[in-house]
Order: sequence, then C-alpha cells, then structure tokens
Amino acid sequence: MRPAAPRAPAPPPPSGPLLIIGGGASGALLAWNLLARQAFDGPVTLVEPRARLGLGVAYGDARSFHLLNVPAGAMGIDPDDPGDFLDWLRRRPAEGRWADLATTTADAFVPRAAFGDYLSSRLDPFLAEGRLRHRRARVVDLQRAPGRGAWVATLDDGTTERGGRVVLALGNNQSAPIRVRSDDGCVPGLHETPWLAPKRLPADASVLILGTGLTMVDVVIALAEDGHRGPIHALSRRGRLPLPQVSGLPKQPVKLPLGADSLGIAGLLHHIKAQARAEVAAGGDWRSVMDGLRAPSKALWPLLAETDKRRFLRHLLPRWNLLRHRLPPVSLERIETLRQSGALTLHAGRLRDVRRDTDGLFHVLYQDRAEGLRPLCVDVILNCTGSCPEGRFTANPLLATLFEKGQVALGPAGLGVAVTAQGQVLSAGGRTYRTLFALGPLVRGAQWECTAIPDIRQDAAALAATLGQTATVSA
Ligand SMILES: Cc1cc2nc3c(=O)[nH]c(=O)nc-3n(C[C@H](O)[C@H](O)[C@H](O)COP(=O)(O)OP(=O)(O)OC[C@H]3O[C@@H](n4cnc5c(N)ncnc54)[C@H](O)[C@@H]3O)c2cc1C
Repeated sequence: MRPAAPRAPAPPPPSGPLLIIGGGASGALLAWNLLARQAFDGPVTLVEPRARLGLGVAYGDARSFHLLNVPAGAMGIDPDDPGDFLDWLRRRPAEGRWADLATTTADAFVPRAAFGDYLSSRLDPFLAEGRLRHRRARVVDLQRAPGRGAWVATLDDGTTERGGRVVLALGNNQSAPIRVRSDDGCVPGLHETPWLAPKRLPADASVLILGTGLTMVDVVIALAEDGHRGPIHALSRRGRLPLPQVSGLPKQPVKLPLGADSLGIAGLLHHIKAQARAEVAAGGDWRSVMDGLRAPSKALWPLLAETDKRRFLRHLLPRWNLLRHRLPPVSLERIETLRQSGALTLHAGRLRDVRRDTDGLFHVLYQDRAEGLRPLCVDVILNCTGSCPEGRFTANPLLATLFEKGQVALGPAGLGVAVTAQGQVLSAGGRTYRTLFALGPLVRGAQWECTAIPDIRQDAAALAATLGQTATVSA
C-alpha cells in the first residue's frame, strides 16, 4: 500500500484573523461551518470580488433555467442536515423570489440560482453580527508575514489583509485553452469562458461548441432561450450527451476489496463493473453503484500509485465524467428537442486544427470517428470542454503567481495544488505550510471527489473542525 498524503503537525495557534480567499461555494461552506457549527468567534474575513458570497461560477452566473444536477433534498449546507435547502425553499414567502418552489419535493432538480441565494442567505446573520467580514476585492499576492506563521494578502485595491491562518478557496480551473492559428494573432469569436458569451452572440452566428457535457448543455439551453437562430455544432471525442439523472434511487454502498489500491486501474474497473452488473441484474440501476462509489473513491484515490492516477485520467476520465456527472432529465429533453429540430448537431471526433482566416471565420478540421478528416466553418467557438483540473492550465492570476514563486506545488497527477491530508498546502520545495490551507476543486489531486456540494460540505466541515480546534487552543 502506498502512503496517503503526508500528515503534518497540527497548525500552531493563530496570530491574526482567519482569512478565506475566494467566496464561492467552498469559501462560503467553510465560513458557515466555522461560525455556525464550530462556534468560532471570528472574525472570519472572506475576500471575494463578487457582491454576494456563496455564488461563484456555478451559482452566480446561472440563469433561471440552469438546474442543479443533485436533487434539492441532498443540497443542504449542513452535512448533518442535507434537507436544510429543501426546508428553506418551502419557507419562501408567497410574494418573494422562488415562491414557485415552495412545494418542491426532495427529488426535484431546482434552479442553481436558487441554491446560490440559499447559500448566500445562510451567511447573512454572521455578516450582520460582524463575525464575518466580506472584503470585496481580489487578492493579487500572498506573502509570509513575520510572526507565528502569519500571512499578508495584497488586494487589488492596494490594501492588505493579514491572516493568522489562510484558506485558498479559488475554485475550478478554466478549460484547457484552444489553440487557434491566426495571422494577426487576434481571435475575436473564440470564447474560452463560455458562461457569459451567449448573450453577446449575433443571433444568426454559426457556433461550434467544443465539448458535449454539462457546460455545453447549459450554453445551448441559454442560446435557445435567447432566440439564437444560427446553426449550433457540438464536438467531442465520442459526441455523446450526458446521461440522465434518475430521482429517488438508493445509494448502493460499494465495497472495494482490501488492498484495492494495488489492483491497478483495470482491476478496479473490473470490480466496479461487476457490482454495477449485479445491481442491474437484481432489478436496480447502475447509477446507485456510481453514487455509492463516492466515499470509497475519495478514500482510495490518495492510495493509488501516481502511474495509476495518470492512467485513469488519460484513458478513463471522459467515461467517468459521463457516468458521474449526470443531467436533470428535463434539461436532457430540451437538448434532444433541439437536436431533433436540427438546431443542434453533435459530432464525434478529435479536433485537429483551428485557423481563423482573414474572412473572420474559423476553419476547423476534426477527425470524425466514422468519416475521417472533416471540415467545419463557423463564426464563433465556445470552449465548453469543462474545467481542466490540471493545475498548470490555471487562469487564476493569484494561483499562477503562487506556482511561479514555488509557494504552491502541483497536486498528484498534476491536478490542482498539493496539500496534506488535513488540507495544508505544500510548497514546490516540499515544505508544509502549517497555516495555509486549500479547499474545494483546487485540491482535486489529493482528494479527487471534492467538486460537488455534498463533497465540499464534508471537507469544509472537517477543515472547520481543524481550524476551530486550534482557535480553542489559543484562547
Ligand atoms: C456550471 C456548474 C454547475 C454545477 N452544478 C452543480 C450541481 O448542480 N450540484 C453540485 O453539487 N455541484 C455542482 N457544481 C460543482 C460545484 O458546486 C462547484 O464546483 C463549486 O461551486 C466550487 O466552488 P468554489 O468556491 O470552490 O469555486 P468557484 O465557484 O469557482 O468560486 C471561487 C471564487 O473565488 C473567487 N476568487 C478567485 N480568485 C480570487 C482571488 N485572487 N481573490 C479573491 N477571490 C478570488 C472567485 O471570484 C470565485 O467567486 C457545478 C459547477 C459548475 C461549474
């Protein structure tokens, strides 16, 4: 068995407030756990440029037709009370926003924006009490300050914030960038961040979407809602749409054999497939096995050899994503309707070349799985290949700076940043920072399952307990 992520000594007593950089869902879940569950006196300072906390990309840029892909009954902020979000929905005032969701059932897929409002509202009491501070700014640098492991964050408004302990909750990476050949080096029409693009597109523009997963679905539905008339193409290696969620399925606990980490990826796959087949043969659904795999895969991932992790990413990630990240049935129905009407065409193949010509169009070549090299000519390209977990593709300037200075290191298999089992950040030189932590998708290399809310809330609760304990020690 290989060693798990290194354990480090407990963090020293804090000297200064607790600073969380990034106020998306991860930062918000951590702040809530500290203030509500750990009775941490604070102050907790959250540095986040958005006006409201808890939203981030997933819940801040979502429109009313973008749905959660986890049932409402499982999305509560509290790991011990997953039904809390549902209760909140049911208590919406008759005249207010989301009043139409007051009769939501636990297995319903509701708008992501409603979840954002819920998360945000859970922090309001702490903001009002002054135990939580929201600094509306972006951190541009983070340096050690003299004295007991403290840090100084430099903000883009020219001020600084000192933190006795600092947590990086910087979120998901962007997609891996698309390489485009262009004579003048200018590529208007290429949208690497697709979330806001559809509102700006000419209605008749021909569009190529790279990726056919959940992000593509979000974007195509937004285009349709905005009355887009031009042809929409979507390309991915297999050209497959996400699979539908099925509500109300039991989670089937998956048992991995002792020493599962030494089975190798092929052996593990064989084992899981056998359980899925047995579940189906017994009248169940393979999704129950995929969902039951969550906890075991989180425990197993750190034990896998680096070569196995990389093999998994190279050969199995698209398939894993397909089975793992499923779509609310109503969203899938919309996509199928658009496909049948000819508004959306799916292509299966590998992108070979993209050139932006003087005619202002993108000339695309892709290797079709069935028909060989095929051309496509479009006005606009949207990169919906999904967040690329590889740390080296980071588009976050702070993270890029920290990597450059060697203050953080790439995580296992090149994913995110390296952390200990307690979430303490490791430098490129292998040093463990006892007062610098990371949470959320940023620690995917170390923890793998740390992207969906049910996983982040668990990790946030554990990290809050660690941080809360040290606060008690110092008191
Ligand atoms: C489109 C989409 C849909 C999803 N749907 C679901 C779902 O239905 N169910 C589910 O369980 N999970 C879902 N997820 C996954 C999950 O909820 C997200 O991964 C989660 O929101 C991650 O939160 P985060 O705070 O780590 O990252 P982010 O949401 O990316 O937030 C990071 C925050 O950090 C801030 N930040 C970045 N750099 C700095 C800096 N230098 N200084 C200060 N602030 C900074 C940003 O402004 C941002 O607000 C979805 C994810 C996406 C992208």
